[in-house]
Amino acid sequence: MGKIILTGDRPTGKLHVGHYVGSLRRRVELQNSGEFEKIYIMIADTQALTDNAENPEKIRQNIIEVALDYLSAGLDPEKSILFIQSQVPQLTELTMFYMNLVTVSRLQRNPTVKSEIQMRNFETSIPVGFYCYPISQASDITAFKATTVPAGEDQEPMVEQTREIVRKFNSVYGETLVEPEILLPDNDACLRLPGTDGKAKMSKSLGNCIYLSETADEVKKKVMSMYTDPDHLRVEDPGKVEGNTVFTYLDAFCKDEYFEEFLPDYANLDELKAHYRRGGLGDVKVKKFLIKVLNAELEPIRKRRAEYEKDIAYVYEILKKGSETAREVAQKTLDDVKAAMKINYF
Ligand code: ATP
Ligand code: MG
Repeated sequence: MGKIILTGDRPTGKLHVGHYVGSLRRRVELQNSGEFEKIYIMIADTQALTDNAENPEKIRQNIIEVALDYLSAGLDPEKSILFIQSQVPQLTELTMFYMNLVTVSRLQRNPTVKSEIQMRNFETSIPVGFYCYPISQASDITAFKATTVPAGEDQEPMVEQTREIVRKFNSVYGETLVEPEILLPDNDACLRLPGTDGKAKMSKSLGNCIYLSETADEVKKKVMSMYTDPDHLRVEDPGKVEGNTVFTYLDAFCKDEYFEEFLPDYANLDELKAHYRRGGLGDVKVKKFLIKVLNAELEPIRKRRAEYEKDIAYVYEILKKGSETAREVAQKTLDDVKAAMKINYF
């Protein structure tokens, strides 16, 4: 059986470089590798509503922003199926059936949901839909018989929850669903890219992002204001690379060819790090290099975005077509599920 990808993002804001290194860049590579039979990329608006019920307009507007980010990052509608979650009602129906296979205490143990509840100050007023979103994610993944979910580290508990649901379903009703695997970034710096403030995770809700659509000037400003090693006061001082956000970003974005182009005194990142550790290398020089690297990565993305922005109707057309295809595929799985449960009465 061929390999199938399902992954996506919540339309709660524009996508940032954390999304790019954590998942988006990988998706484009996988798409172009030709290794996958099908690639489904979902804009998770239904899920975004679980903690934005009072603000549907925000979600509505960000659907197009995320779609523009996808296309400009190199997702190709000829090769990948881009669709909107809420336009595939079969996913909701599957969720209802899967809910009976999961206990409340199991949901309570999910570490990502736990920390998100804290971040959002939900405490005792957690919306039920939000609580259940890992189950709805299991529907998204299984509806497309996905084998592979490229995502950041925070998604590990979701994919594990999905695997449990699949095993439970198959053991109760007979072999029907496919167990997926998460595909994490192969580079540690990309698992959870820190924010420009040095906080643990770059995140739309923390306002510490460099967006994919940011101008070269904005990138420069944000990088220049980043923290480095607080003990690296004078250029001559030895500096620390670990936990130094500027170097973490270089770990995530730098390629050897950028040294040849922008900083030919060094052959690679290891040499630059060694110099910083020894002392004699100033923060400004490293930051200027990072700005060039980031802008080199973002420039082609910005250019493509400007083109797609001229034809928003075409972008909606892509999403509409993708959603139609997604509905057909999800309906087949729903039919299989109902047949397995023997609730296909007519
Ligand atoms: P929200 O605050 O609405 O949850 P978010 O910034 O966490 O937004 P999501 O849409 O939840 O973004 O995540 C989409 C994908 O991007 C997931 O695969 C997630 O693992 C990945 N991702 C998000 N932030 C980062 C980051 N800072 N580093 C690496 N991967 C990330
Ligand atoms: Mg998130």
